[in-house]
Amino acid sequence: MRDLLLPRSNRCPPAASENALGLEASVFTIACSDERGVPIAGRPAELAALRLVGGRDLSLGRLYEGHLNGAQLVARLGTAEQRSRALADIAAGRVFGVWNTQEPGDPVRIAAHGERFVLSGAKTWASGAGSITRPVVTALRDDGTTQLCLLPMERVPAAVDPSSWQPHGMQRSDSFRISFDGIELRASDLIGAPQAYEQQPWFWAGAWRFAAAQSGAVERLFVETAAYLRARERDTDVFQRVRLAEIRIASHAAVHWLEAAARAWSDFDAAETPSNAARVIDVIDMARTAVETAAVDTIARVLRSVGASGLVEPQPFSRLVRDLEMYLRQPAPDAALVRVGIAAVNEALALRRASIASSTGCEG
Ligand SMILES: Cc1cc2nc3c(=O)[nH]c(=O)nc-3n(C[C@H](O)[C@H](O)[C@H](O)COP(=O)(O)OP(=O)(O)OC[C@H]3O[C@@H](n4cnc5c(N)ncnc54)[C@H](O)[C@@H]3O)c2cc1C
Repeated sequence: MRDLLLPRSNRCPPAASENALGLEASVFTIACSDERGVPIAGRPAELAALRLVGGRDLSLGRLYEGHLNGAQLVARLGTAEQRSRALADIAAGRVFGVWNTQEPGDPVRIAAHGERFVLSGAKTWASGAGSITRPVVTALRDDGTTQLCLLPMERVPAAVDPSSWQPHGMQRSDSFRISFDGIELRASDLIGAPQAYEQQPWFWAGAWRFAAAQSGAVERLFVETAAYLRARERDTDVFQRVRLAEIRIASHAAVHWLEAAARAWSDFDAAETPSNAARVIDVIDMARTAVETAAVDTIARVLRSVGASGLVEPQPFSRLVRDLEMYLRQPAPDAALVRVGIAAVNEALALRRASIASSTGCEG
């Protein structure tokens, strides 16, 4: 996996030896993207890095996923000046993020006052609030459209509220509420045109990144469980072997789906056609669902395998499971599955036509 992390191109400025996530430079700078928001290191490297960081610590994986997302949004939608500033920020070790989630009654709004823009309202679930310095924040305009804003936090005195953050898992992602009442922005802080954030396939296909981080945690659970059983000489027991086999199959299935999604992304990156766009959404809808299933199945088997003794610190299982259970809850899982169901009928009918055509030698 490590070879995949080495950027193939040197278009990214030399990275500072340290960054605010404490990651090695080769991983941190995968956020360097071309003007279409494609990581310069390539999709396989992006996938490898997300799995690696997610497997180390899922809270860190959440922050890293946001870092890639935010930097890619600026690269794809920003002006040339905003893009080069973002590359300099990455080289300086600054962390990006994306804060979109909010309470319906208190959304972040943006109002124009001549050359200035003023924010109001709050974001919830803002991972890294209080520490990350380059969040991309969605704000509602008067006409109901969404505007992306890149907030240089050193001049944005937003009010962070850590008090209510007592989650089941992912504690260290610091996904706090943050209030932006009265924050002033400049025109140069706005990224892209209204509604650019919701452009497809990027909006829905972004699920690939969180699924990749989740997969890293599933892979880690597999490794830790096998090591735990081996250390207690329980790995040769037939029930434990069967469970390990099932965990291994689930873990590999997650990776296979994510690799299929990486290929769909790469095809779209090579040719941004409507059919490649539809394909990347379809494969990623299936991949995120398959990863969730693999994770839920793995958690059940890990708990059975390690028992209560495995859930006592300093064993890693309690935290790994709680973090994964929490991070699996991502936006619109039902809607993604419904899209897969709609595509299922079209795919099945096409396969049936192809099968009839091949058996009769004529078009079905
Ligand atoms: C650790 C963590 C960190 C996060 N960090 C960030 C961040 O940095 N930035 C950010 O923007 N967001 C962040 N989020 C929020 C995340 O992007 C999702 O918005 C959030 O996790 C979804 O929460 P939920 O499961 O309660 O959603 P819900 O939308 O309430 O979904 C719960 C269930 O209800 C279903 N459902 C959804 N809508 C409807 C409906 N209208 N009618 C009936 N059923 C419905 C869903 O399919 C699902 O089954 C983070 C989340 C977590 C867990």
